[in-house]
Amino acid sequence: MTTRTPRPGMPPAAWTNWAGNQTCHPAEVAAPRSTEELAAVVRDAAQRGLGVKPVGTGHSFTAIATTDGVQLRLDNLRGVLHADAVTSRVRVLGGTPLHVLNPALQALGLALPNLGDIDRQTITGAISTGTHGTGLRFQGIASAVRGLTLVLADGSVLTCSPDVEPEVFQAARVGLGALGVVTEVELQCVPAFRLHAREFGADLHDVLDRLDDDLAAHDHVDMHWFPLTDRVLVKHNDRVGAEAQGDPLPGWRAWLDDDFLSNRLYEVTNRAATRFPRIVPPLNTVSARLLGAREYTDDSWRVFVAERAVRFRESEYAVPRAHARDVVLAVRDWVERHRPPLTFPLELRFTGADDVWLSTGYERENAYIAMHQYHRMDDAGAFAAFEEIVGEHEGRPHWGKLHTLDAERLQRLYPRFDEFRAVRDRLDPGRVFANDYLRRVLGD
Ligand SMILES: Cc1cc2nc3c(=O)[nH]c(=O)nc-3n(C[C@H](O)[C@H](O)[C@H](O)COP(=O)(O)OP(=O)(O)OC[C@H]3O[C@@H](n4cnc5c(N)ncnc54)[C@H](O)[C@@H]3O)c2cc1C
Repeated sequence: MTTRTPRPGMPPAAWTNWAGNQTCHPAEVAAPRSTEELAAVVRDAAQRGLGVKPVGTGHSFTAIATTDGVQLRLDNLRGVLHADAVTSRVRVLGGTPLHVLNPALQALGLALPNLGDIDRQTITGAISTGTHGTGLRFQGIASAVRGLTLVLADGSVLTCSPDVEPEVFQAARVGLGALGVVTEVELQCVPAFRLHAREFGADLHDVLDRLDDDLAAHDHVDMHWFPLTDRVLVKHNDRVGAEAQGDPLPGWRAWLDDDFLSNRLYEVTNRAATRFPRIVPPLNTVSARLLGAREYTDDSWRVFVAERAVRFRESEYAVPRAHARDVVLAVRDWVERHRPPLTFPLELRFTGADDVWLSTGYERENAYIAMHQYHRMDDAGAFAAFEEIVGEHEGRPHWGKLHTLDAERLQRLYPRFDEFRAVRDRLDPGRVFANDYLRRVLGD
């Protein structure tokens, strides 16, 4: 086992998340090589009164992954353990990042049914926070989970599924890291498929007017509206079979759009906007136009996922699907009146309802609206105004993205909130897995 303890008199190494807005100082860091070693670390820490926090790749914007106790890194617990060709189910180790999982599934002729925008996260970080992509006929990644193995606070190992320990299963699929350390995940995959992608610019009001038609006509609809303009970059991704013809983007075009314009040039222009906020409206107009029309076909995960090299902070709320238009127009109205220097677009996505207790999609078709801001720039009150607007529309915050809600408010948004807390009381009565974020959103 690789366990690192700070030398006496030396400050512990700081840990910082991807966005650079959360930092913590773990007393110890452990990277166990087996479930048995992991269980021993948890048992030992609990006996010494130290908290334990498994961490993925630190891609949450909230303090959900922070600890001043023992930080557990699952870097040595990654890979596909078992694949069943008949049921299309796979069993993977908890520390497996999506960028390792996706090609491994492809090699098996399989794929996850839906993905978010990036593939840097671990499978457990993604499911624990309710990570989702877009598609009204699809759900978040946690909906693909059919079984979990957890190391509990006392070091015991528990395996759950819809039939075995069903309540733990319902709670632990989006478990916020509050119930135990997930060491293995069983996933229901689908046969590998390709996506036909069509991306184009459009006017915000036209887009909102034909939203219902577009959502019915296309499998995965994703939109980026550039604040202080009425321009929207629309993505329609439609599922085609694994053998479907159609070309991927040529290498030069992928480099120009996804690397140069979306990352390298974007970093330079964001730095300029940090110094000269007055350039933000024309900058957003140019950004919206530069990322122009394109059409291509590729493996599903290659189309879903992009690289995000320019750092930002993000808040994302799910509101009932029918409220999408009202929320976007209310945000647009606030932005026009206050003109905050937001250099990043608002993203608009949609998913179907699911049955996962703490999933933002619990029994509700959702529109997801995400506000971003370049990490070096102030948001001039935009995040707070956004939170107030979605608060009037039963907004459920993404567990990994910035929000200020507490247990009292969240209890009113999630019908199964108290059942989740009852499972937590049973599995972790001593709150070995608690941290400040969990105390706020779940209570003590
Ligand atoms: C650039 C960027 C793009 C993003 N795009 C999307 C998107 O398209 N859609 C979306 O929904 N979200 C998106 N996110 C948010 C991201 O998917 C989530 O925050 C996710 O949790 C990150 O996974 P992680 O591995 O970094 O987990 P971390 O942030 O490291 O941890 C998150 C939580 O998972 C828990 N956890 C981790 N491993 C385990 C384990 N083995 N057992 C139990 N608990 C565990 C941690 O304790 C913590 O509570 C994005 C974030 C960034 C920075």
